[in-house]
Amino acid sequence: MTVKNKKLNLKDKYQYLTRDMAWEPSYQSKKDIFAHEDFEGIKITDWDKWEDPFRLTMDAYWKYQAEKEKKLYAIFDAFAQNNGHQNITDARYVNALKLFLTGVSPLEYGAFQGYAKVGRQFSGAGARTACQMQAIDELRHVQTQLHAMSHYNKHFNGLHDFAHMHDRVWFLSVPKSFFDDARSAGPFEFLTAISFSFEYVLTNLLFVPFMSGAAYNGDMATVTFGFSAQSDEARHMTLGLEVIKFILEQHEDNVPIVQHWIDKWFWRGFRLLSLVSMMMDYMLPNKVMSWKQAWEVYYEENGGALFKDLARYGIRPPKYQDEANLAKDHISHQLWSTFYQYSQATNFHTWIPSEDEMAWLSEQYPDTFDKYYRPRFEHWQALQEKGERFYNNTLPQLCQVCQVPTLFTEADDPTKISHRSTEFQGERYHFCSDGCCDIFQHEPEKYVQSWLPVHQIYQGNCEGGDVETVVSKYYHIEIGKDNFEYLGSQDHQRWLALKGKKSHVSADKDAA
Ligand code: FE
Ligand code: ZN
Repeated sequence: MTVKNKKLNLKDKYQYLTRDMAWEPSYQSKKDIFAHEDFEGIKITDWDKWEDPFRLTMDAYWKYQAEKEKKLYAIFDAFAQNNGHQNITDARYVNALKLFLTGVSPLEYGAFQGYAKVGRQFSGAGARTACQMQAIDELRHVQTQLHAMSHYNKHFNGLHDFAHMHDRVWFLSVPKSFFDDARSAGPFEFLTAISFSFEYVLTNLLFVPFMSGAAYNGDMATVTFGFSAQSDEARHMTLGLEVIKFILEQHEDNVPIVQHWIDKWFWRGFRLLSLVSMMMDYMLPNKVMSWKQAWEVYYEENGGALFKDLARYGIRPPKYQDEANLAKDHISHQLWSTFYQYSQATNFHTWIPSEDEMAWLSEQYPDTFDKYYRPRFEHWQALQEKGERFYNNTLPQLCQVCQVPTLFTEADDPTKISHRSTEFQGERYHFCSDGCCDIFQHEPEKYVQSWLPVHQIYQGNCEGGDVETVVSKYYHIEIGKDNFEYLGSQDHQRWLALKGKKSHVSADKDAA
């Protein structure tokens, strides 16, 4: 055999990888091999129209990622050796990391599993390769995030058992159920949900706040992870847009199916991001920008332009977009109020915003903060000063779809809790909104199976009926260490000691 051209250029290499290594099956039918490809009703007429957004060969990919990894771990080492945690703005910041570690990092793992799974489902070789590469990226993300945050676990509470908590703790069922919903959908819905709605439309609202939050608060480890993931994210966003355009261009019958998915995953994503809204407005000692501002820039402006562009395919903006836009003035305050009341059952601490912080909130939310939310915080603060820090010991009604307690208000009335319900096969189901109710009614058989934390507690499936037993035995939250008010907590005391005599204090967890 003679080798004609020993040195292939990158384009040829990629062609060999994605197309020439694929083959037409001879003794099995394509339908049997790619059994999931058509049950959602999506019609693909020509897989060769798939434009590969990555155009990376495996050897180039590994070489590039390895270089990034080397630099990243050199910084992690330096961070640990120099006790980088001492340079953060305030120990309250670490509570944002606790939320990220238990709520977001496990989603990277879910994304890895999801892309690995759908990478097997498509008969188009280009799509299979793109999914495979993203699966590997996502696996790298969960690993590097864990390593970035592991140093904090030596010095702060609440970070010791994130995977266990992700599967069990009440508020973590919000992110968990989001990804479980996507991973248990068909392959095209998964891509619409994660590649398009999450990675393309909403990702800036998740990663920019967390990574800028880290930068503004002196957390070099997390910032460096963010930079290292940035080029991956750019590829993921490209894939997200490519996927949607490809599906829409393939057949006009795909349009209404995709539109429904966009409506659904926009709303699910919006509900999930309420956790980020609270992080931005309340948990960062140095604020990056308000949730409201972030929503205006990253959704109203960027999303507006995107959906203008997609109009030529017959796609309109997500159905409940206007409700989400109206809610930007409220959700962070409503959610922080909820976590404040329920922090006996969380792995992070909560607190009343300082005077300066309240002034900032009034400025950022001139129409709503002073009118609706400041009085509530001032009332709780007065109680706290009398030694009666308020905790709510009832268990809330959860939404059957997004699993957030029904704590948000009607779009046009911030004094009225938004609640919907419907009957299905003789049982009544409850929702936080029309958006979630719609999602349920489209696929009730799926959502009647939701694992709702509060229901599970009441049914006796969580090691006990009282909150204390559930929290300590079932969640692995250490009572008095991980949970409750920040003021006076171990984290707070250790931080004060550290700042008082910086050079000598042993910040070891058990020394406190
Ligand atoms: Fe990722
Ligand atoms: Zn809901």
